[in-house]
Amino acid sequence: MPPPKPQPPKPSATAERTAALINALSVNALSAEDPTPHTVAAVLREHGEADPVELSAHDITEMRAVAEMLREVFAADDVDAAAATLNHLLRLTPGPLRLSSHDGLTIWHPHLDSTDDAPWGEWFLASSCLALTVLLWNRQRPPGGICASSTCWNVYVNQGSGLPRRYCSRRCATRERVATHRRTRA
Ligand SMILES: [Zn+2]
Repeated sequence: MPPPKPQPPKPSATAERTAALINALSVNALSAEDPTPHTVAAVLREHGEADPVELSAHDITEMRAVAEMLREVFAADDVDAAAATLNHLLRLTPGPLRLSSHDGLTIWHPHLDSTDDAPWGEWFLASSCLALTVLLWNRQRPPGGICASSTCWNVYVNQGSGLPRRYCSRRCATRERVATHRRTRA
């Protein structure tokens, strides 16, 4: 019997992968580590990419350029600006929208890249645009934001409901709270 195929990922899970890749591909003051094929492949595996995950230095260069473009969606102030930015990026994807099961190896899922074997940079832009578009459509709010910490520029995905978040992580929220407390006492 063939192994059971995985359930479709939630749009937010695919958007979380986009955010994790943008953060891994950007040089951050807190990590100060240049992205490498090794570190980016680790993020892809963490988010369900099946082995072999093979990336070249050229793939990383292309993915970094895409990450900078996708960051603009997270930098948008409101849903209208996020939609306008996404519409611009959608025009850069090869399209048209198609379904693939990778010859029966995966569940059917949508693709906006030119082929199932598209280069990593093209795949990153197309799959991210798709996930962020569905998320914006579902929630009618920006898909995410940029960490409010002055020393961190990680992006994050907005939660489905509740108060909008401001920081990429508990770590950043705590560090900023401590810094504010110190400033108040000084
Ligand atoms: Zn942060």
